[in-house]
Amino acid sequence: MWVTPTSFKGFVPRKITAFAWLVWDRKILTLDTLFARGCNKLSSVTCLLCCSDIESIDHLFFRCRFSMDIWDRLALIFSFQRAPSSSLDLWGSWLCELDPLIRLPCSLIARVALWHIWLTRNNCVFNSVIISMHVVFLNICHMYLSWMSAAPAKELHKLEDSIAAVRRYIQFFGSHSCLELEPDGPVDFTG
Ligand SMILES: [Zn+2]
Repeated sequence: MWVTPTSFKGFVPRKITAFAWLVWDRKILTLDTLFARGCNKLSSVTCLLCCSDIESIDHLFFRCRFSMDIWDRLALIFSFQRAPSSSLDLWGSWLCELDPLIRLPCSLIARVALWHIWLTRNNCVFNSVIISMHVVFLNICHMYLSWMSAAPAKELHKLEDSIAAVRRYIQFFGSHSCLELEPDGPVDFTG
């Protein structure tokens, strides 16, 4: 069974749904793709978030040390057993293996995580600004909660546990004063 990134799109901002679909369809212009097309303006294809591997879609969103830390924290809050290992895994085996009770919140938080990893990467590449993982994670938590107010009533019972867990995390670890990243960020992610 496949769950596409456009599932559950009703209360997810359209640009986030579109971005998740582009990651799934491998249409994001990471540095390896830009280099292959001869239009990488940087002198390197090395991932700037970890400086240890080539920036590809699967590296940036799933295998980079920075992103893996985010997935690991999400696993604790959303109670999934393992992080997705690639874009295909995310929308295939990973989602399908989840307990149906947590599939909706996990599907939603995955979209938020992809989006914020991309914003963080863009800040690093274009502005030479490195945002701490802690701040990025708090932004992910806040965006998730902001969507919940628009969630349809018939879905809310599937989301209540995750909402409570995210709120507990924010109460314990964060505050709005930590936020440094513009949630709307750049929208132009493909060429
Ligand atoms: Zn990396």
